Amino acid sequence: MATNMSGEMDKPLISRLLLESDGSLAEVPSEAFKVGILGSGDFARSLATRLVGSGFSVVVGSRNPKRTAGLFPSAAQVTFQEEAVCSPNVIFVAVFREHYPSLCGLSDGLAGRVLVDVSNPTAPELLRHRQSNAEYLASLFPTCAVVKAFNVISAWTLQAGPRDGNRQVPICADQPEAKRMVSELARAMGFTPVDMGSLASAREVEAMPLRLLPGWKVPALLALGLFVCFFAYNFVRDVLQPYVQEGKNKFYKLPVSVVNTTLPCVAYVLLSLVYLPGVLAAAVQLRRGTKYRRFPDWLDHWLQHRKQIGLLSFFCAALHVLYSFCLPLRRSHRYDLVNLAVKQVLANKSHLWIEEEVWRMEIYLSLGVLALGTLSLLAVTSLPSIANALSWREFSFVQVPYTHGLISPQLKTQGEPLQIVRVPSLCRILCSPRPCPVSSAGSTQPLRLHCEPSPPGCQRRLLNPWLPPGSTWISPPGCVAWKLSRGSELAQADTTLLVSLSRGPLPCST
Ligand code: NAP
Repeated sequence: MATNMSGEMDKPLISRLLLESDGSLAEVPSEAFKVGILGSGDFARSLATRLVGSGFSVVVGSRNPKRTAGLFPSAAQVTFQEEAVCSPNVIFVAVFREHYPSLCGLSDGLAGRVLVDVSNPTAPELLRHRQSNAEYLASLFPTCAVVKAFNVISAWTLQAGPRDGNRQVPICADQPEAKRMVSELARAMGFTPVDMGSLASAREVEAMPLRLLPGWKVPALLALGLFVCFFAYNFVRDVLQPYVQEGKNKFYKLPVSVVNTTLPCVAYVLLSLVYLPGVLAAAVQLRRGTKYRRFPDWLDHWLQHRKQIGLLSFFCAALHVLYSFCLPLRRSHRYDLVNLAVKQVLANKSHLWIEEEVWRMEIYLSLGVLALGTLSLLAVTSLPSIANALSWREFSFVQVPYTHGLISPQLKTQGEPLQIVRVPSLCRILCSPRPCPVSSAGSTQPLRLHCEPSPPGCQRRLLNPWLPPGSTWISPPGCVAWKLSRGSELAQADTTLLVSLSRGPLPCST
């Protein structure tokens, strides 16, 4: 059985050299670092397989090692829990929260160790417990350093390797050294650690796998509301009015024709709602004379939902195309054609050809296809996976012509309290007691940012994207707004990057 588990998965992921998140190469520890796992379930098995495959020495602690040993790779040592916690410094707790108290007997053996909490609560559990699972574990084992990590990675992704799934591993802990150790471990396994700050963020990290399409609720309700309104209007105009005034029964139009007339109306309005907040934001900034002040909440939320609104507009346009292709397939359409032909014959007309109508339809169809093609391009390049693969110039080439003049203009700051650093090419963010916006305004170059590892006692929160310490990131254009951690500022601008550091004496400097 154990032999079956080995094979492909036992091979090191990238032999001795590993790819860092920024593409540089990092060395795997030369001596096999020992990692412990408590629990022998699905997650523990996948984790052990991946750790062994990445060159680590693994010891698994089970209540019944005889029963479970055969399920683990042969290179992993499966033993009793008490024995498993003796030697490794880092121990993964792959058991459910309700079973944490059953581990309390191991307290002495676990003293001074780094415990990695991988657990995920269910939605009712998340609501029921005031403490996150990781904080609860930390309260049970006060002599250990508890790190929240790997909960967003499924057993399947661990088995398949990070090439075939989510690479980001949000990590939070109160002890920087413990967090660093687990980050290194994640990196060595081929994942990208993302610093989420202290253990107080564990609740946020535990809520991540439960999120269902965050950011889509308002845009979806908006699209639905617009659809209902336009559908009602088209129903009254195309169906009810002919019925009331002329007694014509056109209710058959409801499923296809009225829906098809409604969809482009919704698509147009949604598309205009993508660009309207940019205009309003520009107007607000012009009125205030600065771009370094927070927008009103309603405008901020609107700006943040533009991508979803744009994608819904594209969805409606694509549905309209499909419905339009189906129009000639309808029975009603065929009857109309036959009736028209009969009328022609009765009126003794043999050749019906109205030049103006022919041209109108040709141009109408051609413009429709071009419009859909353009909208498709905008929609596809707004997807993160595609946008990340584009260079700054390529992204602007596609997106900017349509948004030109609509994105906030670059304004000079007028004695704002925030520290602002103009960056022609490279900026080193150190530590600032307050959010530090770094702007590439006035520069034709994209912003290059190098993020230093946080000094001790200083927590960095950087959003959109998270920037792992020691890595370099080139800002995409068109980023308009992103929110920082609790209590921090919000900024907006097409090329403004915000780094928030919760504590620390050093000023932001280039
Ligand atoms: P599982 O298959 O049910 O395994 C749980 C393990 O807990 C058991 O195999 C058992 O191992 C151990 N355990 C220790 N004390 C226990 C007790 N008192 N009662 C019952 N079991 C006890 O669960 P899993 O899927 O591996 O998940 C383990 C943890 O990983 C959970 O917190 C889960 O939220 C988290 N997680 C899982 C996934 C996933 O894809 N499965 C993904 C992310 C996070 P022994 O009998 O050998 O002691």
